[in-house]
Amino acid sequence: MSRPGLREVLERLNRSTDRASRIAEDPIAFPRRFRDPADIEIVAWLAASLSYGRVPLFSAVLERLLDRMGGRPRAYVERFDPAVELPRLRPLYYRMNKGIDIACLIYLMREVVRAHGSVGALFAQGAGPDDADVGPALESFLSRVLAIDTSPVYGSHRHPYGLAQFFSRPSKGSACKRLNMLLRWLVRPDDGVDFGLWTFLEPSKLIVPLDTHVLRISRYLGLTRRRTGGWQTARAITRRLAEADPADPLKYDFALCHLGISGRCPPASVPACCRACPLLAECAKGRAVTRAPSPPELLAEPASFPAVPCALPGRRPRARIRSSKATSGP
Ligand code: SF4
Repeated sequence: MSRPGLREVLERLNRSTDRASRIAEDPIAFPRRFRDPADIEIVAWLAASLSYGRVPLFSAVLERLLDRMGGRPRAYVERFDPAVELPRLRPLYYRMNKGIDIACLIYLMREVVRAHGSVGALFAQGAGPDDADVGPALESFLSRVLAIDTSPVYGSHRHPYGLAQFFSRPSKGSACKRLNMLLRWLVRPDDGVDFGLWTFLEPSKLIVPLDTHVLRISRYLGLTRRRTGGWQTARAITRRLAEADPADPLKYDFALCHLGISGRCPPASVPACCRACPLLAECAKGRAVTRAPSPPELLAEPASFPAVPCALPGRRPRARIRSSKATSGP
C-alpha cells in the first residue's frame, strides 16, 4: 500500500480537528467575540501580544482588559488617555508585562489608528509586491510602531523590556510567533478559524507561528531537522508546508498546533495516540513508536481520533476561554 503523502495527511488532520471546540481553548476566541473588523483588529493584536505561557493565566488578563474596554475596544483605543487610564491599568500584569507596558501597547495602538485609520493600513504601507514573505513588512511595521514617542506613558521615549517583549523582530532572529499568529488570524481567509480581513497580503507570504508544539511535530514529520525555533526555522517549515498548499501554507497551522495543545500528540510518545493519529503515515516518530511494545493499559481501549482525547494518564483538563459575545457592532 502506498503512503498518502504530506498533503493528504495534513488534509486528514484538518478534517479531523473539531475547530469549534479547539477555538474555545485558543486566544483567537477573544477576537472571535466581535464582528466589527475595527474591533477584531484591536482585540486580535492585544490577544496575540499576551498569548504566551498558560492559557488560563493570560486569558484572565485579557478578560480584565476587555471588561475595561467596555465592549467597544476600537472606541476605547481611540479615546485612550494615558493620564486617565494608566492608574486603572497599573494593577494589571502578566509575567514580563507590567500594567504600564500594557497601557503603552494600547497607547501605541491609539497613535496608529489616529494616524493611519487602522492597524492594517499601517501594515500595508510596508508590504511590497516583490517580498518573498511577510518578513520585510513585519520589520517595517515594527520600526514604525517603535518610532512612536512613548513619553506620554513612560515619561521619556523608551522601550522597557516589558514593552519590547511585545515586538520581537525577524531581523533579530526571533520566530515572532505571536506576530505571525496575528498575521495568520487577519490574513488567512475566513475558514471558521481565521478572519481574512487583511486582503492586501497574500496568505502564501505568511510565516508559520512557530511554537513548541509545531516545532516538535514538524520535526516528527521531517519538515525540519532544527531543534531550536527562530525566524529561519519558521521559514524553513513554512516552505515545506507550502509543498502541501503553495497558496495557503498556514492552512494546517491551527490543526497542527492543537494536535499538541490538546494532548493528542503528547511530548512523551504514546502508541495509542499515534495509532489514532491522521499524521501517522508521514510521521517518523509515530511509525517508530507503533513498532515498539506498548503499555497494555494504553492499548486496552483503542483511541478514536478526535472524539476521545488521547492524553497522558493524569492529565488535567484545560480551562476554556469564555465564548460569550461582547456587545460589539453589528
Ligand atoms: S503519529 Fe504520534 S508522534 Fe506522530 S504526530 Fe501523530 S501522535 Fe504525534
